[in-house]
Amino acid sequence: MAPDDKADFLNPPPFMYFLSRFVASFLLILAAKNAYLGNLALTAALSMLVLALSLDIRASKAGIPLPVPVPVFLALLGFTILFAAYSNGPTRVFWAFPAVVAAFFASSRRTAITFAAMTGTGLAALAYWQEAPDQAIRFTAALFLTTLFLDLVTSQLKALQMQLQEASHRDPLTNCFNRRFLELTAQRMAARKPDMRRPGPSLVLIDIDHFKQINDTQGHVAGDRILVRIADIIRQKAEAEDLLFRVGGEEFVLILPDADLPAARRLAERIRDGVSDSRFPVEGRITVSLGVTLYDTRQPLVSILEAADRLLYAAKRGGRNRVCAEDPAGAETV
Ligand code: GH3
Ligand code: MG
Ligand code: MG
Repeated sequence: MAPDDKADFLNPPPFMYFLSRFVASFLLILAAKNAYLGNLALTAALSMLVLALSLDIRASKAGIPLPVPVPVFLALLGFTILFAAYSNGPTRVFWAFPAVVAAFFASSRRTAITFAAMTGTGLAALAYWQEAPDQAIRFTAALFLTTLFLDLVTSQLKALQMQLQEASHRDPLTNCFNRRFLELTAQRMAARKPDMRRPGPSLVLIDIDHFKQINDTQGHVAGDRILVRIADIIRQKAEAEDLLFRVGGEEFVLILPDADLPAARRLAERIRDGVSDSRFPVEGRITVSLGVTLYDTRQPLVSILEAADRLLYAAKRGGRNRVCAEDPAGAETV
């Protein structure tokens, strides 16, 4: 089963290609066995599954949409399992168990549960019809419990994976997003089609003034406390959709998805005011300098950060505690 974008957890592409090839080889062996036994209808159904899987693997490698989407493949697989159960007897299709396991790894939870429920119900009905009742009950119960455990295990793994992913995107001191997530965000923004009707995005680079001095006189722990306070002030002033990253030691990047340059500049001024109006226990007044630029998503992130850094440097040169914004003509205004 080639990767399905709804099931992007637990299935990095190399594992999915391995799983898909493994499933295809297994189905091919089953097809050969049924050809040998003269069950041509089942051979045809199994060969069709192998073909569908091969086409999907090729499309997935080429990065194009799957010709046989995963739910459609699972529906075909379910029918083939039921057909095999009908012609050979339900307790001869023990391969329904690994098929359910593979479905949980290859598709979204809802698709996998639907596949397991429909195939399981069909098999149970055939088992009651064709087998002794106690055999049928054992078979159905085993399939039901397998599905239940699989669902529990994959849900736990997914929850853990989400927690890890969230932690790997955050700076533990300030709870801002980190540099790694900034790069991921830049990739996502570059992949999105620009919407000319919406303003922005813009980027604000924020650096604490004379922070080294504060660190040297008050110590690193006090410095860390200030970083946390300043991150809180920036968050209070920003809009809910704005993204705050801590990039260098005492530098923050704020991405404003829906702000044009004047709006970004107004927000930068509010942040500057917010910090300089706050009182800090030992240091009293602390200030920040800010560089504001439009975020052209066609440019690489480093170029945008360089532009913001030049503006920030101009704000520092201009006396600190100030905002320096690119103007639409490309010049700098302090
Ligand atoms: P400027 O006004 O020009 O920005 O002066 P500055 O002293 O702030 O200069 P610079 O930005 O180069 O200083 C960075 C300092 O930030 C150096 C280091 O002591 C401090 N720093 C970097 N990361 C951390 C951190 O995680 N915690 C603390 N407490 N301090 C840090
Ligand atoms: Mg700095
Ligand atoms: Mg600084």
